[in-house]
Parts: sequence; C-alpha cells; structure tokens
Amino acid sequence: NQKAIATPTRTKEILNQYGFSFKKSLGQNFLIDANILENIVQHAGVDDHSGAIEIGPGIGALTEQLARHADRVVAFEIDQRLVPILEETLSPYENVTIINNDILKADVNKVIRTQFEPGQSLKIVANLPYYITTPILMKLLMERLPVENITVMIQKEVADRMAASPNTKSYGSLSIAVQYYTEAKVVMNVPKTVFMPQPNVDSSVLQLTLRDTPPVQVTDEEFFFTVVQATFGQRRKTLMNNLSRHFKGKFDKEQLRYKLTASAIDPSRRGESLTMEEFATLANLLYEEPE
Ligand code: SAM
Repeated sequence: NQKAIATPTRTKEILNQYGFSFKKSLGQNFLIDANILENIVQHAGVDDHSGAIEIGPGIGALTEQLARHADRVVAFEIDQRLVPILEETLSPYENVTIINNDILKADVNKVIRTQFEPGQSLKIVANLPYYITTPILMKLLMERLPVENITVMIQKEVADRMAASPNTKSYGSLSIAVQYYTEAKVVMNVPKTVFMPQPNVDSSVLQLTLRDTPPVQVTDEEFFFTVVQATFGQRRKTLMNNLSRHFKGKFDKEQLRYKLTASAIDPSRRGESLTMEEFATLANLLYEEPE
C-alpha cells in the first residue's frame, strides 16, 4: 500500500533514485498533487469499463490514478529515460502499457485497434507538454479517433482560447477549429504550485467532448478554415479588410460585399463577432464561383 506517486516526497525519491534531470525542452513538469489528479480522472468520466489513453506519463503520477479507475491504460512517452522508471513505479498495475514514441508520429488509430476492445468507451487524459499542446490536440481531433472525450491540463491561456465564445478577447481561429470537432469547456484552474518544477504559466483543465457530427455544414472543410483564419488575420481590421486582403485577385470588394450581404453579415463587423454558423454560411457562399 505505497504512497501515491503524485506527492512531493515520493516524486523526489523517484527522481533521486534514478538521477533523473528534467528536460525543459520536453515540457516536463510533473504533478505532485494526488487530489488534482483524482479530480481530473473524475471529470474525464473514467470508470472500470473505460480504456484510457495518456500522452506523456512522466514518472506515472496520472497514469497511476488512471490505472486504478480504468479497465486499461495506454500511455505514449517520448523520453526513453522514463521507460525503466515507469516500469518500476507502475509495477503494481497490470493494466498499463507504455509506448515509447512521439505522440505526433504515432498511429493512434492503429494502437486503439490493437490495444482496446472493439467499441470500448475510450477517453484521452493527459497533463500535456505545453510546448506542443495545440499540435497534439489538433492531430488527435483531425484523426477522428473513436474516443468520447479528451480531458487535458494545458496552459490556461490556450484553454481559454479553445473554449472561447464570440465577442471575447480569447475568441479566434483556434476556438473555431476546436469547437468544430468538440464541445469545449474549462473545468478547473490549477495553480503552479502543484507541479515539479513549477512552470512559468498558469494551467487549466480543458474538457473536450467529441461531436458525432460537426455543428455546421460546410462544403469544403479546408476552405472553411481558410476563411476563418483570413478573417482573424488582423484582429483590429474589419471583415471586409481582412477578406479583401486575403482574396486579392480572386474576389474584388464588390463581389465580397455581395457575398457578405447574401450571408446577412455586415461587412464592417470584425471576425471576433462571427458565430460558427455565420462563418459556415460565408465560407459556403465564397466557395461557389464569383457572382
Ligand atoms: N503525466 C505526467 C505528470 O502529470 O506528472 C507528466 C506530464 S509532463 C507536463 C509532459 C510529459 O510529456 C513528459 O513526461 C514528457 O517527456 C512527455 N512528452 C513531451 N513531448 C512528448 C511527445 N511528443 N510525445 C509523447 N510524450 C511527450
């Protein structure tokens, strides 16, 4: 009945025993508060039927809590030095598999097919390395994995942007990209003091519930995201300005005004005021040939 890994004393013990030195470049900030971890696992809805996928287990702080609640846990860890440590710290748990690979290079769909039961309820849970939060989340979303939700600790500012609503400072193309695939919610703010070493930024736990179908119908997804990005190009400028700059040579101002009016969108509005529905209507109209 050993103490949880996620305590300051046990974490220090493990690090000393292996002479482990943190690699800042890999975003290594380990959690040392078991209550926070318990909370994350509860929010994720991990139960004894669930399969859990973790990214970056570190020395196993969160992995241990997942192993206690889930049916099976599969964790991707890029740092080879952590593999023998995890073998020991997680030795009491027989339902954990560590994969020593970069999550950005891994074929996660294939891992899911080989590691979990068909149709098993799957959840991704992680304390993500902050330097690549967005690429990791976008990869997981765009691969359309058969998972129910993604619950991740990330930099507070990024969590706020992903979950933002129109007409707020945090709202931008990242909000649309994430909310196209998921319902996004910040479920917890977390102080720096629960990490070793302490990061420079504040953290939040973001919960993403995957949608079965996108909330809007778009003719061409890539073009839809291009329009969204163009619209937020220069935040202080109007829609008309940003769009005419981006579509120079394709649409003139007259044509753009026509498309915007047809979408019932005032050309003098700013991108940050447009809802996802408005972006979809506009993108679909722009996708057609110029009038
Ligand atoms: N889960 C542990 C915890 O909460 O204490 C560690 C979290 S730490 C913020 C991030 C972890 O992700 C580190 O163990 C780091 O080595 C790992 N990592 C960094 N980049 C990775 C990548 N591309 N693929 C997989 N793991 C990565």
